[in-house]
Amino acid sequence: ESLQDKLNGAFRTLKGKDRISDINVAATTKEVRRALVDADVNFKVAKDITDRIREKALDRKILISVEPGQMFVKIVQEELTELMGGQAESINIKGDPAVILIAGLQGSGKTTFSGKLASLLKKQGRQVLLAACDIYRPAAIDQLKVLGEQIGVEVYAEPDSKDAVSIAQNAIAHARKIGKKIVIVDTAGRLAVDEVMMKEVEDIKSAVKPSEILFVVDSMTGQDAVNTARTFNQRLNFDGVVLTKLDGDSRGGAALSIRQVVEKPIKYISTGEKMEALDSFYPDRMASRILGMGDVISLVERAQQAFDEDEAKRINAKMRQNKFDFDDFLGQLQQIKKMGNVKDLIGMIPGMGSAMKDLDIDNDSFKPIEAIIQSMTKKERENPDLIDGSRKRRIAGGSGTSIQQVNNLLKQFDEMRRMMKKMNTMQAPGQMKKALR
Ligand code: GDP
Repeated sequence: ESLQDKLNGAFRTLKGKDRISDINVAATTKEVRRALVDADVNFKVAKDITDRIREKALDRKILISVEPGQMFVKIVQEELTELMGGQAESINIKGDPAVILIAGLQGSGKTTFSGKLASLLKKQGRQVLLAACDIYRPAAIDQLKVLGEQIGVEVYAEPDSKDAVSIAQNAIAHARKIGKKIVIVDTAGRLAVDEVMMKEVEDIKSAVKPSEILFVVDSMTGQDAVNTARTFNQRLNFDGVVLTKLDGDSRGGAALSIRQVVEKPIKYISTGEKMEALDSFYPDRMASRILGMGDVISLVERAQQAFDEDEAKRINAKMRQNKFDFDDFLGQLQQIKKMGNVKDLIGMIPGMGSAMKDLDIDNDSFKPIEAIIQSMTKKERENPDLIDGSRKRRIAGGSGTSIQQVNNLLKQFDEMRRMMKKMNTMQAPGQMKKALR
């Protein structure tokens, strides 16, 4: 059971009651505390927050409130938000070039994050260079190079060097020479905190004087994440935290207690392996997500990034003229995929997260559909009515699917077109609602 489900359970005891008494507030806060602790929130942090929540609940004289449950949810949400830092915080990219140092344990997602950050900054029109300073894992250099190629950002590496400090320094000199304004330094990690690694990152820090040091931590590691954060902070005095793998068994716990224990803001969250799966950290959104209100704002933002406005207008016009064809459908699928993992997206919709968590959908579910459409000729895509038995056989063969799958897709597409036609013929919003019911 996730923290979200647990808190929902706790609030249920308040629902339907017309009064919040001292007694049922105590029962609910206890449930909240247990849920927080179960989600790897440090016990002391959990106790502090629930104590404050109880005081607030009683203080605000909500005892005869009409909707005690909602009021209580709001108080908890505000507390969680405050606990996670209140405001979203940005990174410092001043300097010529500005140096961003990325540190963390092996496997935490440092290299992936370095690529994502480079891609994000590039989209903002900045000149970025990636520096590969993981000298122990040759594969790490290749991994960064592959990412760099994918996002169109140059990667500075010295595969034969065993001196991470000098690679970092050379990368900065190289950046200056070719006019790059930001250098992201991806460092080596170990499976656990160890002295050699710490010393090396410290040395890189004093040699390159980063404007921003980001500590990357895997949110799935729970209470360990807090301990690792504490150790890294003692040695590096980092500026911000990147919480990765929040797409997994998303434990809000790490976000809650890391901030409290190291007193440094979480700046980014990573929600998947794709380069797009990066969000700024907004404490209020995270609090809402933990409470099951869904991360609707992030969802909208991502949709805005992935969907091209002109393309949307074009598709809209085609729908209105009832000319939506398989090429358009394929284009739409690809745009949805650009938004990131389908399962992550569904998790952001309020109420869907827990309902859909056992459902087996991922981006691979689109593969057979894409393959089928790609095996159609241009004429067939524009006019699916052409597709008879022998064409179906050819398409199934070409796409490595079965005739049954081709039939299903054609049927669904047909239904979709009929639905669009119906919507076109209805003007009044009332009618629209009726059709959707
Ligand atoms: P590093 O050793 O710290 O550089 O870690 P990597 O960047 O190589 O990441 C380790 C593994 O975690 C890789 O398989 C990544 O694809 C994966 N990974 C990184 N970030 C995320 C994330 O946010 N979500 C998921 N599901 N996987 C991630």
